[in-house]
Amino acid sequence: MHIRADLHVHTRASDGDLDPEQAVSQARFSGLDTVAVTDHDTVAGTQEALDSAKKHGIEVIAGVEISAVFEPGTLHILGYFPSYPKGFEQALKPLQEARKLRFPRMVEKLNKLGIDISLEEVLKIAGDAQVGRPHIAKVLIDKGSVRDFDEAFSRYLAKGRPAYVEKEKMSPREAIQTILAHKGVPVLAHPFTLELEKPELRRFIRELADYGLMGIEVSYPEHTRSQKRLFAQIAREHGLLITGGTDYHGPGQGGLTIGAYGLDKEALSVFRERLYQRSSS
Ligand code: AMP
Ligand code: ZN
Ligand code: FE
Ligand code: FE
Repeated sequence: MHIRADLHVHTRASDGDLDPEQAVSQARFSGLDTVAVTDHDTVAGTQEALDSAKKHGIEVIAGVEISAVFEPGTLHILGYFPSYPKGFEQALKPLQEARKLRFPRMVEKLNKLGIDISLEEVLKIAGDAQVGRPHIAKVLIDKGSVRDFDEAFSRYLAKGRPAYVEKEKMSPREAIQTILAHKGVPVLAHPFTLELEKPELRRFIRELADYGLMGIEVSYPEHTRSQKRLFAQIAREHGLLITGGTDYHGPGQGGLTIGAYGLDKEALSVFRERLYQRSSS
């Protein structure tokens, strides 16, 4: 499959390593026609990415990745917009506040586990970005408390590990409807992180489709071949789009490059048609 679009890329606006413009430049370097910037709970890097599209000769799609309430696993809803979504950043403010509140508690837990780390160190490394667990992981690596991201998450930061703190999130319905209200296309990100068995997964996706979900992320680094087949089949059953991307966070986080996963020409064309219909609806 010849990948033409990567629809899942993080930048420094959340927990990515690259500035939005650098990410766009990297996408062009990888030979893509289209890239979507999808930061966690913010579109603060989106305008810079859109502005750099022309310079780099590539299509840039405004996107977001919203964390939503879910058990047992993790639920992320991607949103794609036909143009910069005005007023959307404001709608994300409660999520951004919740992110800030979570980190003093995580630092406290780490301190109780005997790890020397301060909130100031975490906030300094995050800068203006939406702070996330990868920022804590970076501090832990810099200070020699862990070797790498894997160790930081498996020992301390992953859901269920001793320094994890739950954050306030939107309900799945609210996440989907907020994206729809801003003329966006809501897509279920990396369904494998839901940790659901087949029947529950089918039931849950049907529920999301009732709320207005328009697509499922199928091409994704951690999806097995049989998962991809299943997710694509469920998408077809509900008339949902099939999307994909690398979930790229930068050269320091994971070994893959932008464009390693995503959409081929035909899937991209179907996706674009649906996306740009939204601007006229
Ligand atoms: P947060 O926004 O604080 O919930 O952090 C979520 C981000 O942490 C994800 O987008 C990944 O960048 C990273 N992450 C989550 N789980 C892991 C893991 N097990 N190993 C490495 N990185 C992870
Ligand atoms: Zn992330
Ligand atoms: Fe995600
Ligand atoms: Fe992501």
